[in-house]
Amino acid sequence: MKLLIIYTGGTIGMIENPETHALHPFDFSHLIDNVPKVKKLAYDIDHIQFSPPIDSANMKPEHWVEIAMAIEHDYNKYDGFVVLHGTDTMAYTASALSFMLENLHKPVIITGSQLPIGEVRTDGEENLITALQVAAARDRHGEALVQEVAILFENHLWRGNRSTKMSADNFDAFKSNNYPPLAHIGLDIEFDFEALYRSPDRRPLKVHHRMDTAVMIVELNPGMTEFTLQHLLHTPGIKGIVLKTFGAGNAPSDKWFITAIREAVKRGVVIVNVTQCVNGGVKDSLYDTGNSLAGAGVVSGGDITVEAAITKLMYLFGMDMEPDQVRTYMRHCLCGEQS
Ligand code: ASP
Repeated sequence: MKLLIIYTGGTIGMIENPETHALHPFDFSHLIDNVPKVKKLAYDIDHIQFSPPIDSANMKPEHWVEIAMAIEHDYNKYDGFVVLHGTDTMAYTASALSFMLENLHKPVIITGSQLPIGEVRTDGEENLITALQVAAARDRHGEALVQEVAILFENHLWRGNRSTKMSADNFDAFKSNNYPPLAHIGLDIEFDFEALYRSPDRRPLKVHHRMDTAVMIVELNPGMTEFTLQHLLHTPGIKGIVLKTFGAGNAPSDKWFITAIREAVKRGVVIVNVTQCVNGGVKDSLYDTGNSLAGAGVVSGGDITVEAAITKLMYLFGMDMEPDQVRTYMRHCLCGEQS
């Protein structure tokens, strides 16, 4: 079994700056020296690392391309990939990679930790070892059990493009609020075979290298003024907006609000309705306040996460699609990101 670790940075490999006591990313050799148990795994493991490794707050679409290209370059050489990544933007990277790696049939398991690997109580050691075991897991026909981008954290394996960072403190930091875990990690790793993604066809991997960043997230609040909304909707060059609405996809009924949204849609801006709630999704025909958004041309994102919605917009616009095409694809599930 040949596995590739792609170390991008994050707390898992950080050490303390002796002067400021703040954590900063450090070399892979330091990280792996702290996990001697890895040698007990009967896998052939190679690694590559970002130079320099980064805090994931600094993660950019260029870095996603770097990870995707590393996987593309060595796709046939390895049976699975483990990406070590900071937790802060892990759900964005997982979502972005799920779109960029079209026809993925091998495991891409992203993990990290809340405490650095050098700390006595670190969660990094277990997360790394379990991520490698998940990447190596095969069914009785020798097929990879996981054939998608997934996040391994503490006791669960989650679908990457359904996940969200839920806690800045807990070891159990991730969750996919609208999708069951792909596996429970206990004494055994218990996979949920129904939940695992299977691509409908066996075409070869196709990697997309362009993500268009002319997109943004706009979150509603009851005090939002017409001036603020107009300012945001007129952001120069903006092509796509994830509109974080109330409850089941509701927004104010004020004439100025709906008019501003309708005009932005007419200008060609793709606006996607995603709920601010942590679980559940948009049902925009349930109330008048959601219905009027749909009437203004806003696309329902259903139960998609904000992380998946914004990266999906980057991916679709990155393929030079027209707004109408983007709207159509936003309504459809491409790789398990929405129900
Ligand atoms: N700031 C860190 C990062 O995202 C946090 C972590 O890894 O847990 O890189």
